[in-house]
Amino acid sequence: MQITRELFDEVMVPNYAPSKIIPVKGKGSRVWDQQGNEFIDFAGGIAVNCLGHCHPSLVNALKEQGEKLWHLSNVMTNEPALRLAKKLTDATFAEKVYFANSGGEANEAALKLARRWAIDNYGEHKTQIISFNKSFHGRTFFTVTVGGQAAYSDGFGPKPGDIVHADFNDLASVEKLISDNTCAVMVEPLQGEGGIIPATADFIQGVRALCDKHNALLIFDEVQTGVGRTGDLYAYQGLGVTPDILTTAKALGGGFPIGAMLTTTEIAKHLKIGTHGSTYGGNPLACAVAEAVLDVVNTADTLKGVKAREQLFRTGLEGINSKYKVFSEVRGQGLLLGAVLNEQYKGRSREFLNASADNGLMSLIAGLDVIRFAPSLIISEDEIKEGLKRFEKAVAQVVNA
Ligand SMILES: *Cc1c(COP(=O)(O)O)cnc(C)c1O
Repeated sequence: MQITRELFDEVMVPNYAPSKIIPVKGKGSRVWDQQGNEFIDFAGGIAVNCLGHCHPSLVNALKEQGEKLWHLSNVMTNEPALRLAKKLTDATFAEKVYFANSGGEANEAALKLARRWAIDNYGEHKTQIISFNKSFHGRTFFTVTVGGQAAYSDGFGPKPGDIVHADFNDLASVEKLISDNTCAVMVEPLQGEGGIIPATADFIQGVRALCDKHNALLIFDEVQTGVGRTGDLYAYQGLGVTPDILTTAKALGGGFPIGAMLTTTEIAKHLKIGTHGSTYGGNPLACAVAEAVLDVVNTADTLKGVKAREQLFRTGLEGINSKYKVFSEVRGQGLLLGAVLNEQYKGRSREFLNASADNGLMSLIAGLDVIRFAPSLIISEDEIKEGLKRFEKAVAQVVNA
Protein backbone atom coordinates (compact mmCIF):
# COMPACT_ATOMS: atom_id res chain seq x y z
CA MET A 1 0.00 0.00 0.00
CA GLN A 2 1.27 3.45 -0.97
CA ILE A 3 1.23 5.69 2.14
CA THR A 4 0.91 9.34 1.23
CA ARG A 5 -0.10 12.55 2.96
CA GLU A 6 -3.28 12.47 0.84
CA LEU A 7 -4.28 9.23 2.60
CA PHE A 8 -4.42 11.19 5.85
CA ASP A 9 -7.17 13.43 4.49
CA GLU A 10 -9.00 10.38 3.21
CA VAL A 11 -9.02 8.24 6.35
CA MET A 12 -8.26 10.44 9.37
CA VAL A 13 -10.55 12.60 11.49
CA PRO A 14 -9.59 16.15 10.45
CA ASN A 15 -8.56 17.47 13.90
CA TYR A 16 -4.87 17.68 12.91
CA ALA A 17 -3.09 19.31 10.01
CA PRO A 18 0.18 17.36 9.84
CA SER A 19 3.19 18.40 7.77
CA LYS A 20 3.59 16.92 4.30
CA ILE A 21 6.77 15.21 5.54
CA ILE A 22 6.31 11.56 6.53
CA PRO A 23 9.25 10.41 8.68
CA VAL A 24 10.02 6.71 8.64
CA LYS A 25 13.20 6.39 10.72
CA GLY A 26 15.00 8.16 13.54
CA LYS A 27 18.34 7.76 15.29
CA GLY A 28 19.45 10.10 18.06
CA SER A 29 18.62 13.62 16.89
CA ARG A 30 18.32 12.75 13.20
CA VAL A 31 15.19 11.71 11.34
CA TRP A 32 14.69 10.50 7.78
CA ASP A 33 11.54 10.74 5.68
CA GLN A 34 10.07 8.44 3.02
CA GLN A 35 12.28 10.00 0.32
CA GLY A 36 15.43 9.64 2.43
CA ASN A 37 15.63 13.38 3.26
CA GLU A 38 17.44 13.89 6.55
CA PHE A 39 16.32 16.25 9.35
CA ILE A 40 17.86 17.46 12.57
CA ASP A 41 15.27 17.16 15.31
CA PHE A 42 14.86 20.23 17.55
CA ALA A 43 11.20 19.33 18.20
CA GLY A 44 11.59 16.04 20.05
CA GLY A 45 8.02 15.00 19.33
CA ILE A 46 6.84 18.03 21.36
CA ALA A 47 9.26 17.68 24.27
CA VAL A 48 8.76 13.92 24.46
CA ASN A 49 11.85 12.28 22.93
CA CYS A 50 14.17 13.39 25.72
CA LEU A 51 16.83 10.88 24.70
CA GLY A 52 16.35 11.27 20.95
CA HIS A 53 15.08 8.51 18.73
CA CYS A 54 15.72 4.82 19.41
CA HIS A 55 18.12 5.31 22.32
CA PRO A 56 19.80 1.91 22.87
CA SER A 57 18.82 1.70 26.57
CA LEU A 58 15.18 2.39 25.74
CA VAL A 59 15.12 -0.01 22.80
CA ASN A 60 16.67 -2.61 25.06
CA ALA A 61 14.19 -2.06 27.89
CA LEU A 62 11.28 -2.30 25.44
CA LYS A 63 12.60 -5.46 23.79
CA GLU A 64 13.36 -7.15 27.10
CA GLN A 65 9.99 -6.38 28.63
CA GLY A 66 8.30 -7.12 25.30
CA GLU A 67 9.44 -10.71 25.54
CA LYS A 68 8.38 -11.09 29.19
CA LEU A 69 5.00 -9.54 29.90
CA TRP A 70 2.95 -6.83 28.17
CA HIS A 71 -0.15 -6.24 30.19
CA LEU A 72 -2.04 -7.33 33.27
CA SER A 73 -4.37 -4.44 34.18
CA ASN A 74 -4.59 -3.20 37.74
CA VAL A 75 -6.23 -6.31 39.14
CA MET A 76 -2.59 -7.32 39.51
CA THR A 77 0.49 -5.26 40.09
CA ASN A 78 3.76 -5.67 38.23
CA GLU A 79 7.49 -5.31 38.78
CA PRO A 80 8.30 -2.49 36.30
CA ALA A 81 5.51 -0.27 37.72
CA LEU A 82 6.69 -0.70 41.29
CA ARG A 83 10.35 -0.18 40.34
CA LEU A 84 9.44 3.01 38.49
CA ALA A 85 7.24 4.27 41.34
CA LYS A 86 10.08 3.66 43.80
CA LYS A 87 12.52 5.61 41.62
CA LEU A 88 10.08 8.49 41.20
CA THR A 89 9.41 8.76 44.92
CA ASP A 90 13.13 8.47 45.74
CA ALA A 91 13.90 11.31 43.32
CA THR A 92 11.14 13.75 44.36
CA PHE A 93 9.06 15.10 47.27
CA ALA A 94 6.42 12.50 46.52
CA GLU A 95 5.58 9.40 48.54
CA LYS A 96 2.87 7.99 46.28
CA VAL A 97 2.42 7.53 42.54
CA TYR A 98 -0.60 7.01 40.28
CA PHE A 99 0.11 5.90 36.70
CA ALA A 100 -1.81 7.07 33.66
CA ASN A 101 -1.13 7.00 29.92
CA SER A 102 -0.80 10.68 29.10
CA GLY A 103 -0.41 14.14 30.55
CA GLY A 104 -4.09 14.92 30.27
CA GLU A 105 -4.99 11.80 32.22
CA ALA A 106 -2.38 12.50 34.90
CA ASN A 107 -3.90 15.99 35.30
CA GLU A 108 -7.44 14.58 35.32
CA ALA A 109 -6.36 12.35 38.22
CA ALA A 110 -4.72 15.29 40.00
CA LEU A 111 -7.86 17.44 39.73
CA LYS A 112 -10.18 14.66 40.86
CA LEU A 113 -7.88 13.89 43.79
CA ALA A 114 -7.77 17.58 44.79
CA ARG A 115 -11.57 17.76 44.76
CA ARG A 116 -11.88 14.58 46.87
CA TRP A 117 -9.26 15.78 49.31
CA ALA A 118 -10.99 19.13 49.76
CA ILE A 119 -14.53 17.74 50.03
CA ASP A 120 -13.45 15.01 52.49
CA ASN A 121 -11.52 17.44 54.67
CA TYR A 122 -13.55 20.65 54.47
CA GLY A 123 -16.94 19.94 52.90
CA GLU A 124 -18.89 20.26 49.68
CA HIS A 125 -18.26 24.01 49.30
CA LYS A 126 -14.52 23.66 48.73
CA THR A 127 -14.36 22.88 45.01
CA GLN A 128 -12.96 25.98 43.31
CA ILE A 129 -10.00 25.38 41.02
CA ILE A 130 -7.79 28.28 40.01
CA SER A 131 -5.60 28.01 36.94
CA PHE A 132 -4.08 30.50 34.54
CA ASN A 133 -4.90 32.19 31.29
CA LYS A 134 -2.98 30.67 28.38
CA SER A 135 -2.19 27.55 30.41
CA PHE A 136 -2.48 24.09 28.89
CA HIS A 137 -3.33 20.98 30.85
CA GLY A 138 -4.62 18.47 28.30
CA ARG A 139 -7.72 17.73 26.24
CA THR A 140 -10.06 15.81 28.53
CA PHE A 141 -13.10 17.94 29.27
CA PHE A 142 -11.99 18.70 32.84
CA THR A 143 -8.38 19.52 31.91
CA VAL A 144 -9.31 21.53 28.83
CA THR A 145 -11.68 23.61 30.96
CA VAL A 146 -8.96 24.16 33.54
CA GLY A 147 -6.61 25.19 30.72
CA GLY A 148 -7.02 28.85 30.00
CA GLN A 149 -7.88 28.78 26.29
CA ALA A 150 -11.48 29.18 25.17
CA ALA A 151 -10.57 27.99 21.66
CA TYR A 152 -9.92 24.52 23.08
CA SER A 153 -12.70 24.31 25.66
CA ASP A 154 -15.74 25.99 24.08
CA GLY A 155 -18.32 24.44 21.81
CA PHE A 156 -18.68 21.15 23.63
CA GLY A 157 -21.67 22.00 25.78
CA PRO A 158 -21.77 22.46 29.56
CA LYS A 159 -18.34 22.45 31.19
CA PRO A 160 -17.22 21.18 34.58
CA GLY A 161 -17.87 24.07 36.97
CA ASP A 162 -16.17 26.17 39.63
CA ILE A 163 -13.03 26.78 37.59
CA VAL A 164 -11.56 30.29 37.35
CA HIS A 165 -8.50 31.77 35.66
CA ALA A 166 -5.91 34.21 36.98
CA ASP A 167 -3.05 35.84 35.06
CA PHE A 168 0.27 34.02 35.02
CA ASN A 169 3.07 35.79 36.93
CA ASP A 170 0.49 38.17 38.43
CA LEU A 171 0.15 37.29 42.11
CA ALA A 172 -2.48 39.98 42.76
CA SER A 173 -4.79 38.29 40.25
CA VAL A 174 -4.55 35.06 42.26
CA GLU A 175 -5.04 36.86 45.52
CA LYS A 176 -8.26 38.37 44.15
CA LEU A 177 -9.74 34.93 43.34
CA ILE A 178 -8.46 32.65 46.08
CA SER A 179 -10.54 32.00 49.20
CA ASP A 180 -11.32 29.22 51.66
CA ASN A 181 -13.53 27.75 48.91
CA THR A 182 -10.48 27.14 46.73
CA CYS A 183 -9.51 23.49 46.59
CA ALA A 184 -6.46 23.78 44.32
CA VAL A 185 -4.31 26.00 42.16
CA MET A 186 -2.97 24.27 39.06
CA VAL A 187 0.04 25.84 37.39
CA GLU A 188 2.81 25.07 34.91
CA PRO A 189 6.14 26.20 36.38
CA LEU A 190 6.97 27.27 32.84
CA GLN A 191 4.04 27.75 30.47
CA GLY A 192 4.80 25.63 27.42
CA GLU A 193 1.98 25.79 24.89
CA GLY A 194 1.17 29.30 26.14
CA GLY A 195 4.43 30.68 24.73
CA ILE A 196 7.43 29.39 26.77
CA ILE A 197 6.94 31.71 29.73
CA PRO A 198 8.84 30.84 32.93
CA ALA A 199 7.17 31.57 36.25
CA THR A 200 9.17 33.97 38.36
CA ALA A 201 10.38 32.56 41.69
CA ASP A 202 8.53 35.36 43.52
CA PHE A 203 5.26 34.55 41.82
CA ILE A 204 5.43 30.82 42.41
CA GLN A 205 6.51 31.26 46.04
CA GLY A 206 3.65 33.72 46.49
CA VAL A 207 1.17 31.20 45.05
CA ARG A 208 2.51 28.57 47.47
CA ALA A 209 1.96 30.96 50.40
CA LEU A 210 -1.60 31.78 49.26
CA CYS A 211 -2.41 28.07 48.96
CA ASP A 212 -1.11 27.48 52.48
CA LYS A 213 -3.12 30.40 53.82
CA HIS A 214 -6.38 29.08 52.32
CA ASN A 215 -5.76 25.33 52.75
CA ALA A 216 -5.66 24.80 49.00
CA LEU A 217 -3.47 22.30 47.19
CA LEU A 218 -0.76 23.46 44.81
CA ILE A 219 -0.64 21.28 41.69
CA PHE A 220 2.36 21.60 39.40
CA ASP A 221 1.72 20.46 35.86
CA GLU A 222 5.21 19.34 34.88
CA VAL A 223 4.05 17.37 31.87
CA GLN A 224 6.26 19.47 29.60
CA THR A 225 8.89 20.74 32.08
CA GLY A 226 9.56 17.45 33.84
CA VAL A 227 12.19 14.74 33.42
CA GLY A 228 15.25 16.94 32.96
CA ARG A 229 13.85 19.40 30.45
CA THR A 230 14.75 22.51 32.50
CA GLY A 231 18.06 21.14 33.80
CA ASP A 232 16.54 19.93 37.07
CA LEU A 233 14.82 16.54 37.16
CA TYR A 234 11.64 18.51 37.87
CA ALA A 235 11.37 22.27 37.52
CA TYR A 236 10.03 22.69 41.08
CA GLN A 237 13.44 21.65 42.33
CA GLY A 238 14.93 24.81 40.84
CA LEU A 239 12.20 27.12 42.12
CA GLY A 240 12.40 26.71 45.89
CA VAL A 241 8.77 25.60 46.05
CA THR A 242 7.35 22.12 46.63
CA PRO A 243 3.92 21.33 45.20
CA ASP A 244 1.39 19.03 46.84
CA ILE A 245 0.68 17.19 43.61
CA LEU A 246 2.90 16.99 40.53
CA THR A 247 2.02 15.57 37.14
CA THR A 248 4.55 14.23 34.65
CA ALA A 249 4.22 12.63 31.22
CA LYS A 250 5.73 13.57 27.83
CA ALA A 251 9.47 12.95 28.40
CA LEU A 252 8.78 10.36 31.11
CA GLY A 253 8.37 7.64 28.49
CA GLY A 254 10.86 9.11 26.03
CA GLY A 255 8.32 8.36 23.28
CA PHE A 256 6.36 5.53 24.89
CA PRO A 257 2.97 6.75 26.21
CA ILE A 258 2.90 7.10 30.00
CA GLY A 259 1.87 9.70 32.56
CA ALA A 260 2.05 9.85 36.33
CA MET A 261 0.65 11.82 39.21
CA LEU A 262 2.91 12.20 42.24
CA THR A 263 1.77 13.25 45.69
CA THR A 264 2.12 12.71 49.43
CA THR A 265 0.69 9.83 51.46
CA GLU A 266 -1.59 12.21 53.34
CA ILE A 267 -3.24 13.50 50.17
CA ALA A 268 -3.12 10.21 48.24
CA LYS A 269 -5.24 8.42 50.84
CA HIS A 270 -8.33 10.22 49.56
CA LEU A 271 -8.28 8.20 46.34
CA LYS A 272 -9.70 5.17 48.12
CA ILE A 273 -10.18 1.80 46.43
CA GLY A 274 -12.41 2.18 43.41
CA THR A 275 -12.50 5.98 43.29
CA HIS A 276 -10.34 6.29 40.17
CA GLY A 277 -8.50 4.06 37.73
CA SER A 278 -7.20 3.20 34.29
CA THR A 279 -6.96 -0.04 32.33
CA TYR A 280 -3.50 0.68 30.98
CA GLY A 281 -2.09 2.80 33.82
CA GLY A 282 1.10 1.17 35.08
CA ASN A 283 1.44 -0.94 31.94
CA PRO A 284 4.65 -3.01 32.21
CA LEU A 285 6.01 -2.00 28.78
CA ALA A 286 5.51 1.71 29.47
CA CYS A 287 6.96 1.47 32.96
CA ALA A 288 10.00 -0.53 31.84
CA VAL A 289 10.81 2.11 29.23
CA ALA A 290 10.20 4.98 31.66
CA GLU A 291 12.50 3.36 34.19
CA ALA A 292 15.24 3.24 31.55
CA VAL A 293 14.55 6.92 30.75
CA LEU A 294 14.90 7.93 34.41
CA ASP A 295 18.11 5.93 34.78
CA VAL A 296 19.71 7.97 32.00
CA VAL A 297 18.14 11.37 32.68
CA ASN A 298 18.42 11.48 36.47
CA THR A 299 22.22 11.67 36.50
CA ALA A 300 24.45 14.68 37.13
CA ASP A 301 25.93 14.14 33.66
CA THR A 302 22.66 14.48 31.77
CA LEU A 303 21.23 17.27 33.90
CA LYS A 304 24.41 19.37 33.77
CA GLY A 305 24.57 18.66 30.06
CA VAL A 306 21.15 20.28 29.61
CA LYS A 307 22.44 23.60 30.98
CA ALA A 308 25.56 23.42 28.78
CA ARG A 309 23.40 22.78 25.71
CA GLU A 310 21.08 25.63 26.66
CA GLN A 311 24.10 27.96 26.44
CA LEU A 312 24.97 26.66 22.96
CA PHE A 313 21.40 27.33 21.84
CA ARG A 314 21.28 30.80 23.37
CA THR A 315 24.63 31.82 21.89
CA GLY A 316 23.66 30.45 18.47
CA LEU A 317 20.25 32.12 18.47
CA GLU A 318 21.74 35.44 19.57
CA GLY A 319 24.22 35.20 16.70
CA ILE A 320 21.38 34.63 14.24
CA ASN A 321 19.40 37.49 15.73
CA SER A 322 22.27 39.93 15.56
CA LYS A 323 22.35 39.34 11.79
CA TYR A 324 18.64 39.19 11.01
CA LYS A 325 16.87 41.10 13.83
CA VAL A 326 13.84 38.84 14.11
CA PHE A 327 13.53 38.11 17.85
CA SER A 328 12.73 40.37 20.76
CA GLU A 329 14.09 37.78 23.21
CA VAL A 330 14.97 34.14 23.73
CA ARG A 331 13.24 32.81 26.84
CA GLY A 332 12.65 29.55 28.63
CA GLN A 333 14.86 27.25 30.58
CA GLY A 334 17.19 24.37 29.85
CA LEU A 335 16.15 22.77 26.58
CA LEU A 336 12.69 24.28 26.49
CA LEU A 337 13.44 27.53 24.70
CA GLY A 338 11.31 30.04 22.84
CA ALA A 339 12.59 32.57 20.31
CA VAL A 340 10.01 35.35 20.51
CA LEU A 341 9.33 37.14 17.22
CA ASN A 342 9.64 40.93 17.39
CA GLU A 343 6.98 43.46 16.26
CA GLN A 344 8.00 43.19 12.62
CA TYR A 345 7.53 39.40 12.47
CA LYS A 346 4.69 38.98 14.99
CA GLY A 347 2.13 36.33 14.05
CA ARG A 348 4.43 34.59 11.56
CA SER A 349 5.91 31.70 13.59
CA ARG A 350 4.46 29.15 11.17
CA GLU A 351 6.47 30.64 8.28
CA PHE A 352 9.67 30.07 10.26
CA LEU A 353 8.55 26.54 11.10
CA ASN A 354 7.88 25.73 7.45
CA ALA A 355 11.13 27.33 6.26
CA SER A 356 13.00 25.28 8.88
CA ALA A 357 11.48 22.07 7.55
CA ASP A 358 12.45 23.11 4.00
CA ASN A 359 16.02 23.40 5.26
CA GLY A 360 16.13 20.04 7.05
CA LEU A 361 15.21 21.11 10.58
CA MET A 362 12.29 19.98 12.70
CA SER A 363 11.24 22.72 15.13
CA LEU A 364 8.05 23.74 16.95
CA ILE A 365 5.99 26.81 17.60
CA ALA A 366 4.21 27.95 20.76
CA GLY A 367 1.45 30.19 19.46
CA LEU A 368 1.77 32.60 16.56
CA ASP A 369 4.71 34.56 17.94
CA VAL A 370 7.14 32.02 19.35
CA ILE A 371 9.43 29.45 17.73
CA ARG A 372 9.96 26.68 20.25
CA PHE A 373 12.88 24.29 20.61
CA ALA A 374 12.63 21.09 22.69
CA PRO A 375 15.40 18.83 21.43
CA SER A 376 16.82 15.66 22.94
CA LEU A 377 18.52 16.34 26.28
CA ILE A 378 21.58 14.52 24.95
CA ILE A 379 21.73 16.04 21.45
CA SER A 380 25.38 16.34 20.37
CA GLU A 381 27.18 19.68 20.07
CA ASP A 382 27.67 19.01 16.34
CA GLU A 383 23.97 18.45 15.83
CA ILE A 384 23.11 21.64 17.71
CA LYS A 385 25.52 23.58 15.48
CA GLU A 386 24.28 21.94 12.29
CA GLY A 387 20.65 22.47 13.31
CA LEU A 388 21.27 26.14 14.07
CA LYS A 389 22.98 26.52 10.70
CA ARG A 390 19.84 25.17 9.07
CA PHE A 391 17.71 27.43 11.21
CA GLU A 392 19.76 30.44 10.12
CA LYS A 393 19.07 29.52 6.47
CA ALA A 394 15.37 29.32 7.32
CA VAL A 395 15.43 32.73 9.01
CA ALA A 396 17.24 34.24 6.01
CA GLN A 397 14.62 32.70 3.72
CA VAL A 398 11.74 34.31 5.65
CA VAL A 399 13.49 37.66 6.07
CA ASN A 400 14.46 37.87 2.39
CA ALA A 401 11.15 36.61 1.02
C1 LIG B 1 1.30 18.29 26.56
C2 LIG B 1 0.80 18.81 27.84
C3 LIG B 1 -0.31 18.23 28.47
C4 LIG B 1 -1.16 17.17 27.84
O1 LIG B 1 -0.48 15.97 27.71
P1 LIG B 1 -1.11 14.80 26.79
O2 LIG B 1 -0.13 13.67 26.94
O3 LIG B 1 -1.20 15.36 25.40
O4 LIG B 1 -2.44 14.48 27.34
C5 LIG B 1 -0.67 18.71 29.72
N1 LIG B 1 0.01 19.69 30.31
C6 LIG B 1 1.08 20.27 29.73
C7 LIG B 1 1.82 21.35 30.45
C8 LIG B 1 1.52 19.86 28.46
O5 LIG B 1 2.56 20.44 27.88
